Amino acid sequence: MMDQRLTALAKQKAFELGADLVGVGNIERWSAAPPLMSPLGIMPDGRAVLVCAIHHTDAMIEVGGEGSPHEQGTYSYQYFMNSHLDVISYTMSKFFEDMGYRAVPITASNIWRYREYKDLKATFAPDMSHIYASVAAGLTELGFSGLAMSPEFGPRNRFVSIITDAPLVPDPLLPGGTLCDNCGQCKKHCATEAFTKEVQGEVAIEIEGHKYSRCDKNLWRCAWSEHFGLDCEADIPEKVDEPVILDKIKELGMRGGTMGCCLKFCLPRDKRSWDKEYSSAPIRKKGAVPARPNPDRGVQESILSNALSNGADIVSVQSAADWAAMGYDLKPLLPDVKSIVLFAVKTPAPAPAGGTGEKLTGLSHSTGYVMNKCAFYTAAALEKLGYSGAPYFMGGLKQDPGKTAIENVKKVWTAAVNDPSAALGFTLTSAELTPTERRSVYGAKPAALNSKDTIRKLALELGADVVGFSSAKRLTDAINSVRGALDGERILNARETGSLWLNSLAEITESQRQVHVPADYLASAKSVIVLGVRIPKESSDCLGRHGAEAIGPYAFAQHQSHRTLGNAILTLNKVLQGWGMTCVAVNDLANTGSVISNPRGAFPNIFANRVAALCAGLGTITKGGFVNNPQFGTNLRYVAIITDAELPEDALADIHGLRSKCEGCDRCLTHCTVKAYKGEAAVQVDGHRLKFGIVEQARCDWALRYGLIADEGQKWTGSKTDVQPPETITKEALAEALAKRDPILRIRPCVAEMCAMACPYTRSQVD
Ligand code: SF4
Ligand code: SF4
Ligand code: SF4
Repeated sequence: MMDQRLTALAKQKAFELGADLVGVGNIERWSAAPPLMSPLGIMPDGRAVLVCAIHHTDAMIEVGGEGSPHEQGTYSYQYFMNSHLDVISYTMSKFFEDMGYRAVPITASNIWRYREYKDLKATFAPDMSHIYASVAAGLTELGFSGLAMSPEFGPRNRFVSIITDAPLVPDPLLPGGTLCDNCGQCKKHCATEAFTKEVQGEVAIEIEGHKYSRCDKNLWRCAWSEHFGLDCEADIPEKVDEPVILDKIKELGMRGGTMGCCLKFCLPRDKRSWDKEYSSAPIRKKGAVPARPNPDRGVQESILSNALSNGADIVSVQSAADWAAMGYDLKPLLPDVKSIVLFAVKTPAPAPAGGTGEKLTGLSHSTGYVMNKCAFYTAAALEKLGYSGAPYFMGGLKQDPGKTAIENVKKVWTAAVNDPSAALGFTLTSAELTPTERRSVYGAKPAALNSKDTIRKLALELGADVVGFSSAKRLTDAINSVRGALDGERILNARETGSLWLNSLAEITESQRQVHVPADYLASAKSVIVLGVRIPKESSDCLGRHGAEAIGPYAFAQHQSHRTLGNAILTLNKVLQGWGMTCVAVNDLANTGSVISNPRGAFPNIFANRVAALCAGLGTITKGGFVNNPQFGTNLRYVAIITDAELPEDALADIHGLRSKCEGCDRCLTHCTVKAYKGEAAVQVDGHRLKFGIVEQARCDWALRYGLIADEGQKWTGSKTDVQPPETITKEALAEALAKRDPILRIRPCVAEMCAMACPYTRSQVD
């Protein structure tokens, strides 16, 4: 039976997270989709797909890309929209799991099969199409351009989808053919002539008797500048395909990505108006008209409060007229600007000097994400009231007058904030806001609060799924017990010297692993707090399986789990520092793991922070060397915070019971794609001894960190990379192998720890 209340709760949650449109499609609506690119191919017993959209602010479209599609300016905030859609997708999958169902969150973008794969003819194929999903969830129809058009925003929306077996109530479909009036603007303005050259006519999808058609363009041509960054004003050959793109990148170099003109110039007829002084693009008729030049006081107050509670350290509201009086013209960045709202998000105070270990990486992504969230949602909130709103970070324009205008803001705001660690940005708006400035202060802990309980509660609120505490002593003793087996291990470090699609070269250096203990990071270390964020069970379970053979959901979860941890640490450490605690966050405290390759860069692998998680009571170390947690199995990723505060440690988990399946099993060891397990080590904790397999790190890294092995997951993306490791892995052998990587898919590698994938604590086993 369909569950109307559950559907309402899910939609409410998605809207709370910042979605502008939320719809549901029942899974049968995908029955005609190719399994390799369908939610049914990913989760054959799925029942519904929840689709969420964020609307680009109109100014992003109407002001971004003016002059040249390469001059993206405020349109660059589409990257933030993707990051935040990823947060929405991931959080919604956790919501469904917590309600007792299964769910697979799909990333917003950038995990694709670029080429045809098996019998799938589509190119640039995601795990499933969010554009089609938005149609199937009743949110949109297809335009001639192939973009999904909503009645409210036309194509000015980006989408994300979550597949689930929850019994959600589907939304009615739009009829089809009612939003695109064949105005021809997309055809006329496309910089690569993708709607007029190499076109194979029109194609249509049919759902429940409704037909949605679009132009069948050559996506390699469409991707010329929009994806591959080639100059849109260059002479584009009559035929564009992968070899042509690669040749032209070598010949011409890259100018940078573009804003799609099909997006910029498209609106449904009833939303379309023109003001050529303001924009070359149509102006969207907004849903509201402001009654006054200045919004109600409550509006401004809620904008400021949201920004500070989202993590801004400074928010400053200033008048554009005052900036003009200083000689700084903001109009090139928003023609009807009246106010500027500036944001600064700082990193937590740095650790005291003298520590030797690697600190947490990825915090700069978190500061940037939070700053962008403040700027984007400030613009979006004002736009909903009929004002214009354009979010900016300190770049995105190369031509004047916009370039100078941004440089001026950067100069003034950088000097005012005076913190090189801070992420800086701003929102311009036509609303006349009242000049003011607010600063976050992280205060002392109220005496009534218990430190440990409050930390646990706060960490869970910030997105952690599990939280554990160890004394620095328990952890130090455990690490020292295993140090001999791991210290001094040979590591090969590759530094990419090639750039994007130009070449695959890398420079290799050699180092020895140094195992660390808490005092290496913080001499006064007393306690360690460990946070874990789950990987949705079904994202592991579907890896390489069913009709879709997808690795995308797992690759997404690998980075989104760590990004969630980074976002939590950003706030948590500031709060704890406000209490007077010194804190250092680390990806892999003992330094016994390594990293994965991933479309979003390098992230800690499944072995990282294993001893810390064990000592914090979050699970056991299995025979395979990864952690098994009682609730989430091996599907957790961890971050550790070392602090000088005394916090009572948690009891250990049932560390023998949690590895009972290891008895008589060696699936992890035998399923390693490169035979990297080389022996055994034993860790001792509170009188218990746990033996586990250890790897030759350079060999494991060959497959997982450098993505050189098809069977480690790359094969499911259609990547041609597959270079077997030699008997002895040398610097030269690694450099040679890296140069042989697939030239297109090299920058979007997807890998999975196949040892853990063979483990019954990770997912169901079928062989
Ligand atoms: S620009 Fe015009 S023709 Fe093109 S998709 Fe939009 S409404 Fe249709
Ligand atoms: S596959 Fe899992 S259960 Fe089997 S030995 Fe390895 S860690 Fe233990
Ligand atoms: S399967 Fe992959 S991650 Fe596991 S030990 Fe082997 S190479 Fe490393």
